[in-house]
Amino acid sequence: MRGIVNPQVVRSSRTRPAMAYKNKKKQNNFQNEWIQARRFEWIASQGGKCVQCGSAENLEVDHINRQEKTLKPSQIWSRRKEVREVELLKCQVLCYHCHKIKTINEFTKPLVHGTLNGYRKHKCKCFDCMEWMREDSRRKRAAQRLRKLEALNN
Ligand SMILES: [Zn+2]
Ligand SMILES: [Zn+2]
Repeated sequence: MRGIVNPQVVRSSRTRPAMAYKNKKKQNNFQNEWIQARRFEWIASQGGKCVQCGSAENLEVDHINRQEKTLKPSQIWSRRKEVREVELLKCQVLCYHCHKIKTINEFTKPLVHGTLNGYRKHKCKCFDCMEWMREDSRRKRAAQRLRKLEALNN
């Protein structure tokens, strides 16, 4: 049976187009490999786990202070060593889950008790927030009474 070639296989490989696509894919894989290697090496140098929860899975690069960010994590690895080192000094390792929570918190105004933000946005029911709400309805009722009085006087 050796030496017998299935004619269908030959035809399909000969008619396969997009050689350019194939090469590009190969190139991307190569690029990803050394980028992954640099990324992996840095994460390992940082202890290889999430600084928040200690997980070693789905690790990501996080800028500790969003304001100091000059490069996206994905842009860091292709830069030269000096640039990478400066940017990575501002970074820490977080797992996907902790990174997501941190990002959400960065975009949400912190809860300040006894304010509209505490009662409405965070639906906090602590004494200060409830007191703010009672005070707010008092203010509203007073304003309403005032409007009615003004309407009567006019
Ligand atoms: Zn974590
Ligand atoms: Zn509160």
